[in-house]
Amino acid sequence: MTTQLGLPDAIQACLFDLDGVVTKTAVVHAAAWKETFDAFLRERDGADFRPFTDSDYDEYVDGRPRADGVRTFLASRGIDLPEGGPDDPPDALTVGGVGNRKNELVLEKIRNDGVQPYEGTLRYIDAVRAAGLATAIVSSSANTLDVLRSIDAERLFDVRVDGVVARERGLPGKPRPDTFLAAARDLGVEPSRAAVFEDALAGMEAGRSGHFGYVVGVDRVGQTDALYAHGADHVVKDLAELGGDA
Ligand SMILES: [Mg+2]
Repeated sequence: MTTQLGLPDAIQACLFDLDGVVTKTAVVHAAAWKETFDAFLRERDGADFRPFTDSDYDEYVDGRPRADGVRTFLASRGIDLPEGGPDDPPDALTVGGVGNRKNELVLEKIRNDGVQPYEGTLRYIDAVRAAGLATAIVSSSANTLDVLRSIDAERLFDVRVDGVVARERGLPGKPRPDTFLAAARDLGVEPSRAAVFEDALAGMEAGRSGHFGYVVGVDRVGQTDALYAHGADHVVKDLAELGGDA
C-alpha cells in the first residue's frame, strides 16, 4: 500500500465523485428529489400516495444523471412518463420536466445555503497531489463547475468529466463506467491504476464494472454493507481515515 494515502502501490490517479464525496451537497440533492417526487406522486395517486424514501434515493437515483434518476425511480413504481425534452418547463409531466423541477430546487437550495466542502476530502486531495498522483472530478451533475468554483476547488482537479462533458461526448452516466473511464483516459492512466472515490451505489457499480484498481466507498449515511455489496474494495466514513495528513 501507498501507506501515506491508504491506496495500493499501483495507483497513479484518483477519480473523485463530487456530491457527497467532495461537497456536502448529496443531502441537498436527496431533499430536492424527495420534494419533487412526493409532490408528483401525491398529485397522481391521491389517497394511495406512497412517499419517496431514503432507500428509493440510494437505489434508483443517487449518482445517476438527472433524467436517468427520474426514469429509474418512476419505473420502480410502474410509471412511464413521456420523455419530453431537456428544456421542458418544470411543471411539465415529462422526464425532462420532472428533472428540471428537481434541478430548480437544488439550485435554489444552493443559492440560499451555499456549498460546504468536506475538509477531510480537501486535505486528502492535497496530499494525493503532493504525492504526484493525478486527479479528476467525475460527476453526473451538470452544475459541477459552479459548485467547484464556489468552494475554490476547481484547481484541485487535472480533469473534469461532469454532466456537461458527458452530454457533449455522448457518454452514458453511472452506474455505467464510461465517465470514469473517460477521466482515466484523459489523465493517460490505465483503469487498473486508478482509484474511484464514490458515495453512491451506482458509483460502486461503475467502479466495479470498469475494472478500476481500487474502489473506495464513502459512507456518509450508514450504508456500508450496501457499498460493499455494490463493489467497494474499502469503505470509509471520511477520506481523512485513509491518511494524507502527515
Ligand atoms: Mg455522490
